[in-house]
Parts: sequence; C-alpha cells; structure tokens
Amino acid sequence: MIFEEIIKRGHEQVSYFHDPTLGLKGIVAIHNTVLGPALGGCRMWNYASEEEALIDVLRLSKGMTYKAAIAGLNLGGGKAVIIGDPKSDKSEELFRSFGRFIEGLGGRYITAEDVGTSIKDMDYVRMETKYVTGISKSFGGSGDPSLLTAFGTYLGIKASVKFKLKKDSLEGLSISIQGLGSVGMELVKYLSNDGMKIFAYDIDDNLMRKAETKYGITKISSDNIYDQDVDIYAPCALGATINDETIPLLKCSIVAGAANNVLKDPKKHSEDLMKRGILYAPDYAINAGGLINVYNELEGYNRDRAFSQAEAIYDILMDIFYKSEKENIPTNLASNQKAEERIHKIASLKSFYLPNRRKMILKGR
Ligand code: NAD
Repeated sequence: MIFEEIIKRGHEQVSYFHDPTLGLKGIVAIHNTVLGPALGGCRMWNYASEEEALIDVLRLSKGMTYKAAIAGLNLGGGKAVIIGDPKSDKSEELFRSFGRFIEGLGGRYITAEDVGTSIKDMDYVRMETKYVTGISKSFGGSGDPSLLTAFGTYLGIKASVKFKLKKDSLEGLSISIQGLGSVGMELVKYLSNDGMKIFAYDIDDNLMRKAETKYGITKISSDNIYDQDVDIYAPCALGATINDETIPLLKCSIVAGAANNVLKDPKKHSEDLMKRGILYAPDYAINAGGLINVYNELEGYNRDRAFSQAEAIYDILMDIFYKSEKENIPTNLASNQKAEERIHKIASLKSFYLPNRRKMILKGR
C-alpha cells in the first residue's frame, strides 16, 4: 500500500525512522530532487494513525516541490513528520535524535520548523546535523520568515492589480484582509503606505485594535469578510476559505493572500473563480517569500539578497497570469504546469556528460 501511495504522487524516497530508546517515530518524504536537495519543514502532530501521518507528509512534500520550482529556487520538495504531541512530547534528546536521522540522509533532505515545531527545536536539530535551516539568528539563521512572506504577498497583490485592473498603483483601491498575524499585519503596513483602503478581520481583538490605531484599517466582522465590496480579498489566516459557500458571496475581482491551501477543491474552485472573472494568485507562488528566506540561509543569510530575490514574485505571477489567459486555463493549473516545465527542463540539462561536473560532485558540490 505504501508503494501505491508513493507511486501515485511520484515520490523518490520515503524514510521511516524510529529511536527505540526515546520512542521517536517519524517519516521523511522526499518528493523530487531534480532541482536540488529536498527542503521542507518538520511537522509534529498527534496523528490519529500512521496512515494519516504518511498521507500528510506525502501531500506536503509534493507541495514543496512545486513551491520551490515556481520560485526559481534550486531546491527539491521534502517534508518530515514526527508522530507525537507537541505540547507534551518535546525534548532536547528527541530533536537531537531526529537530527541524527536527518544527518543519515546525507543532505538529500533539509529540515526546518513547521506546525508543532519551533526555532528552538531546530537549534537542537542543528547540534546533530548541518542539514537544517530556519535556526536562531544567533547561529546565523534568517529569523522570522513572515517579513519576506508579507513582502512577496504585497508584490503579488501589485502584480494581480496590474494584470486584472491595469493599474500600476494600489492607491485608492480596497482590500479585505482575513488574519492580522505575523504575515497579515506586516502586509497591512505595505498596503497602508500605498494608500489602500483596508478592511480587516481577525479573531484576536488586540490585533484588530493594533491595526486600527497604527494603520487606520476599518474593522469588519467575520460575516462580512467575503461579501465586502472591495477590489481584493486577501486570505492570511486559514486554508480552504474559497469554497462552494464563499464563492457566490465574493464581490472582489482578485483573490490574493498569503494563506496556504486557499482553494478547498483546487480544480473545481479555481474553475469557479475563473468563470466569475475573479483572478486568483496561486497561494504557493504568492507566499513563496518564506521559502526564499530560508533558502538564503543555506548560502549564509543576507537580508538584502533575500529581499531582492523575493522581488521576482511579481514577474513570476505575471507569467502565470499571461499563460492562464493565453491558454484559457485556471491560474493554479498554469502555475503547476510552469513548475513542472522548469523541473523537466533542468532535468534535461543532465542529458550529456560534463567531465568537470563529475569532479565537483565527487567533492560534494
Ligand atoms: P499567524 O498564526 O501569525 O496569524 C494567523 C492569524 O489569523 C492570527 O492572528 C489568528 O488570530 C488569525 N485567525 C485565525 N482564525 C481566523 C479566522 N477565522 N478569521 C480571521 N482571523 C483568524 O500566521 P502567519 O504566519 O501570519 O501565517 C498566515 C497564513 O499564511 C497561514 O495560512 C500560513 O500557513 C501562511 N503562510 C505563512 C508563511 C510565513 O512565513 N509565516 C509562509 C507561507 C504561508
């Protein structure tokens, strides 16, 4: 059954690991390494079954392949899961043991923090392996990725506005933002600087007050987030907010935000948005700033280089939109196809023998 699932999704490798002393149980899934080492976070979760953990790690690692490919990074897609309760089962030795398993993969997979794991946990992982990113700034880490995610999302919104509304400026346009957390609040800063009219909702009243006093946003309720009469809806909290119930309510002409897995049913709901003339900025392309941030850490983190690399998100989205328009296909399909094309083209580079390259590989480069 495991091979069936792996073959269905095109994975290269799935490694189960177990530390008998600590009871650590986990899975690393490496989806595709044509572009480079597989990078993706380590999720710690109280999975109801081993099957649930496997499906999660397979799904998430495949998503990372597409995200790295569309962002133009030399990275493959991978992910790890640790089966356990992040509230009660964490310890130094658990993450160091996990680090030793990662080291054993010899650099085919690079880990990072994710749901249920933290920068502190990754600092423990780092004690046992160099194949970890998203570590503390004091160890040369890149720090909070949300800043770059927000910057990329802001540029993605600008690209969407340019393509759909034919405008170079955001001034005077309106947006409803769902979620004022690490990414949402930083995004508000960029958009208010550009003179947008911002409506926002967060379940946390303190964040709403902060955005109101600092950036002059207009508070709205959870009921009004979808049918607000705005140019753009920016999901920055939960996934699956574009679905059968919300699509008929939308008055916006653009959906562009940082949240992952925005479309509940990617095929159906991307087509529904297209039929309604609503431009959708594919989530994994617009929110790739965080991945660009940790990618830069691998080469010695430089904030300016990371920000200038994230500027590419504007052009990446424009290319996706043009392809979608030309071929009359939904934007997320256009994005998937572009990511796959890049992987295939780079794979074809290896179609002829390069003598010096072999020496570089032998030296580990
Ligand atoms: P966060 O936890 O800091 O913020 C999420 C915010 O959403 C919180 O303030 C929370 O109160 C609010 N929220 C929760 N339920 C809500 C609801 N029903 N309605 C309105 N608000 C609600 O998370 P974040 O780091 O800002 O990430 C936001 C989204 O972007 C997530 O979907 C995340 O997966 C995605 N994302 C984040 C990054 C990153 O670098 N942080 C990178 C890629 C994708």
